[in-house]
Amino acid sequence: MEKTLAVNAGSSSLKWQLYEMPEEKVIAKGIFERIGLAQSMSTVKFNGEDHKREIDIVDHRQAVLLLMDELIHFHLISEFREITGIGHRVVAGGELFKDSVLIDKNVLDQIKSISNLAPLHNPANAAGIEAFMKLLPDATAVAVFDTAFHTSMPEKAYRYPIPNKYYRNYSVRKYGAHGTSHMYVSREAAKYFDKPLEDLKIITAHIGNGASITAVDGGKSVDTSMGFTPLGGVMMGTRSGEMDPSVIPFLLENDPDLNSAQEVIDMFNNQSGIRGVSELSSDMRDLEKSRDAGDANSILAYEMFVDRLKKYISQYFGVLNGADALVFTAGIGENDRKVREDVVNGLSWFGMEINPERNYRGVVGEISTADSKVKVLVIPTDEELVIARDVEKFK
Ligand code: AMP
Repeated sequence: MEKTLAVNAGSSSLKWQLYEMPEEKVIAKGIFERIGLAQSMSTVKFNGEDHKREIDIVDHRQAVLLLMDELIHFHLISEFREITGIGHRVVAGGELFKDSVLIDKNVLDQIKSISNLAPLHNPANAAGIEAFMKLLPDATAVAVFDTAFHTSMPEKAYRYPIPNKYYRNYSVRKYGAHGTSHMYVSREAAKYFDKPLEDLKIITAHIGNGASITAVDGGKSVDTSMGFTPLGGVMMGTRSGEMDPSVIPFLLENDPDLNSAQEVIDMFNNQSGIRGVSELSSDMRDLEKSRDAGDANSILAYEMFVDRLKKYISQYFGVLNGADALVFTAGIGENDRKVREDVVNGLSWFGMEINPERNYRGVVGEISTADSKVKVLVIPTDEELVIARDVEKFK
């Protein structure tokens, strides 16, 4: 039996999913959390059960060793050789990678060389890749880039209007992120409509803790809200999204607690968004509880969140000159009927109408009325499946 691992190594976590391929059957999945920190944890899920344990994990290499131990321990594999494919999610592919690639030493070096585009993620991705190269040298190892889907953007969309030399010398441009997810849900939407992807204009809204909106024209990303890094675009759980950059020197001059541009950026990345405005939590479920209890900061944070989503979605109606469908996905997009309702009702001028009877939690498929000119869909994303499928292509 051929087994493939889809691996998503974050700065302090490593998520994995084990598939039987080509059947695309999920055998088990899990996550190592708080790698390199106190109270690191491993969770393994299979047959509807969660197996959690607290265990010291100093780095990604150790997490990978532990993962293989767990797979043997729970009889998910009987020997390492059963894993014939490994797909790695890599956050930044820069301008080097327009598609998934077979990993060799050269590719690994290239991934490391563009770490400045995703300083928290690419080094972790590379560490995961290296650990598996040592442990499973014969498995087909493939890198799947979060930016690849957006490499189809036209230059007018990906360039920033600053002197050309900053693009030429330093590759400063929009790269976007969540590409695997935007690609997957736009293709699933075409299947749902039973129409060729080439004939459809779709706006995809990946709204989770990180959030981005993409304009997909004929199956190709033509614009996306995240920018040079995932800090750009809409408001998120802990990220500000789009900001006027003049705020950075202004804060450095005026706030004695902020001492470098990096500290301001860290604040925009980690202390802002829903967390920063609600002053309570970055999690939408918490926010909705405090909003419903009448907390003024939470009400404002929610209103700002919906406002930013509406602004980017309406921009993309402009970029595409109209759209056939709006697709919601990821934690909030898939589960939060109120966010979907508020966004769609607030954009009714574009020809969208929500069907309240269809817009329930857990719905998959169409949530707009039969008369709605623009169809609104909820499609659960599945980045791991895309990764596992891409590995198959190289076997
Ligand atoms: P993700 O990053 O895709 O895992 O999404 C995480 C976000 O989804 C968090 O803000 C969660 O609060 C939110 N979320 C998950 N389940 C629900 C739910 N049932 N209702 C509202 N928000 C949810």
